[in-house]
Amino acid sequence: MLNAAAQPPMSEPTSWNIDFRGRRALVTGAGKGIGRDIATMLHRFNAHVVALSRTEADLQSLRAEIGCETIVAELGDADEAKAAAERAGDIDLLVNNAAVAKLEPLLETTVDGWDNTMDINLRAVLLVTQVVARNMIGRRVGGSIVNVSSMAAFQGLRDHAAYCASKAGLDQLTAVMAVELGKYQIRINSVNPTVILTDMGKRAWSDPAKGGPMLARIPLGRFLECHEVANVVCFLLSDAAAMLNGLALQIDGGFHTT
Ligand code: NDP
Repeated sequence: MLNAAAQPPMSEPTSWNIDFRGRRALVTGAGKGIGRDIATMLHRFNAHVVALSRTEADLQSLRAEIGCETIVAELGDADEAKAAAERAGDIDLLVNNAAVAKLEPLLETTVDGWDNTMDINLRAVLLVTQVVARNMIGRRVGGSIVNVSSMAAFQGLRDHAAYCASKAGLDQLTAVMAVELGKYQIRINSVNPTVILTDMGKRAWSDPAKGGPMLARIPLGRFLECHEVANVVCFLLSDAAAMLNGLALQIDGGFHTT
């Protein structure tokens, strides 16, 4: 399925002039997949990482790798989400990455599936950001926030009703955050990746009958890699992106043009 020429570049962003020394970065959903790569890259750029997720073993292994602080929390629970953000302390950089994708055909979408998706993918982002942003405002430090959205914010994907709605909602939440928090020098952007074969991505796209047509629409001829999202997230968090605010930035190898 994958064109042999369409391999990800092997280069590492070691020559980038990004230095998050002295900044504390909270990453939600840091246990696996994209969030884990974001946490690892932030660490490589000298941030002090606070990793939040719900499976303790994932966080323990990440702590062994990068020496981060860890917080175990279920973000679908509103009180737990707020308490976890408070435990994170003074945060300068926030990545709202945790999400779930429950695949249900539209006519069989359940109240539980819908509510759980909205609670984790959307409400938790609001609650965590409220705590972190209030703290930034109180300290008069400004800051940068990236919400990990999805191409699903723009595409009607089969069996993804709750997920698509949550990600479209997330982009609008990003827009309102940018409008209201700009005066405090807090920037908020979304990134909107295409398919990445993480645990979540495999569940939705590893069947060639589903993944093949999606892949065929990506001009660069391959799916995305976790570190390629982490690169863009670190750029958006950095001062190099000082005037980028309120974006929904598609990381999709050109999918949106087809
Ligand atoms: P994974 O399922 O591989 O990892 C998600 C991480 O978030 C896990 O560590 C998971 O913990 C954690 N998490 C999920 N729900 C909660 C919760 N309620 N409370 C605390 N932690 C939670 O997902 P990806 O890495 O693929 O996805 C990361 C982000 O990227 C998501 O926002 C997703 O929507 C987005 N995205 C993914 C794409 C893809 O193709 N993979 C494409 C576009 C966007 P645990 O394992 O313990 O449940």
